[in-house]
Amino acid sequence: MSDAVVVGAGIIGLSCAVRLQQRGLRVTVVTAHPVEQTVSAVAAAVWYPTRTDGTSRVLDWARHTFDELADQARQPVPGVVMRPTRMLLRTPVDDPPWWAAAVPDLRYCPVVPATGTGPAGGVVAEWRCTVPTVEMRPYLDWLTRRFVAAGGVLRQRDLSNLAEAGQLAPVVVNATGLAAGRLAADPSVHPIRGQVVLVANPGIATSVRDEHHPDGSTYVHPRRRDIVLGGTFEPDVDGELPDPATSRAIRARCAALVPELAGAAVLAQRVGLRPGRHGGARVEADPAPPSGVTQLIHCYGHGGAGVTLSWGCADEVASLVSAEP
Ligand SMILES: Cc1cc2nc3c(=O)[nH]c(=O)nc-3n(C[C@H](O)[C@H](O)[C@H](O)COP(=O)(O)OP(=O)(O)OC[C@H]3O[C@@H](n4cnc5c(N)ncnc54)[C@H](O)[C@@H]3O)c2cc1C
Repeated sequence: MSDAVVVGAGIIGLSCAVRLQQRGLRVTVVTAHPVEQTVSAVAAAVWYPTRTDGTSRVLDWARHTFDELADQARQPVPGVVMRPTRMLLRTPVDDPPWWAAAVPDLRYCPVVPATGTGPAGGVVAEWRCTVPTVEMRPYLDWLTRRFVAAGGVLRQRDLSNLAEAGQLAPVVVNATGLAAGRLAADPSVHPIRGQVVLVANPGIATSVRDEHHPDGSTYVHPRRRDIVLGGTFEPDVDGELPDPATSRAIRARCAALVPELAGAAVLAQRVGLRPGRHGGARVEADPAPPSGVTQLIHCYGHGGAGVTLSWGCADEVASLVSAEP
């Protein structure tokens, strides 16, 4: 018998499971999909609180995750690297962004000349900083191995409802991402489609992000052997097949930003449905858990920032568990 069951083995479920183990609980993780087929496996996955509300709670989650991932990069944990990053700005700003307190070396550089031509024209400045970046497949593998090595049990099973999880443990953590809309009867949950292109890395080491590109958010995130080129952010769109025209447009925008990318070999196109939620991620104990469940804690709806908020949210989930082993 376990003390807690985490439903979901994406970045949120696995981070919660590890934190609960560290509090001394015996934990089972149940997942409908193999870990490598979760949305988390598609993530770019760079620390940045994409389109989240700038509340102090979200800032705490983002800051704790930054610190944890920075520590993991130092160990080093597979897939986690601190990477120089340029965040392009199309209008000058007077104040630092709301998340600045999480990023130790953030600096404003009004240095990029505005050329007025080409897709990068109109860029007037940039934020430069060093942030954690994560290569999700090796990282999710590492999280899974760490969980199992500490005595955790991983089961593949598609649950019909959260009460079923109560048969495995009295405490249930709902980390089911997009499926939480159905499992927790939460109408605020919706898909946000994201398409990316993976290309061979010609030797690029710096991440570049152009959130306000007039043709759509654009980013170049290098990894060990490849580069993630992005990307789309399409609320309420749920098709999971890559669209070739969209991939061509992404490559063109990225090559205009980073000319070394022109002609880079395409390795894959990927689509993931981010678990969006109006009002932001839900991290709280359910006041009315289903029959047979002593405590139900929700942790879902992280949209485009699940990696960025993962450890902070896992800390909060662990603090909400009142049952002792
Ligand atoms: C293209 C793209 C780029 C992204 N880039 C970034 C980025 O740079 N930085 C960042 O922070 N975030 C990024 N994200 C967002 C990030 O990927 C998500 O926020 C995150 O993966 C959500 O994790 P999750 O664990 O909640 O959900 P998921 O990874 O979807 O995991 C859900 C889990 O629940 C399980 N489950 C569902 N239903 C059931 C059921 N009935 N029974 C049992 N198990 C069930 C699934 O099998 C799965 O294991 C990106 C996403 C996309 C698509």
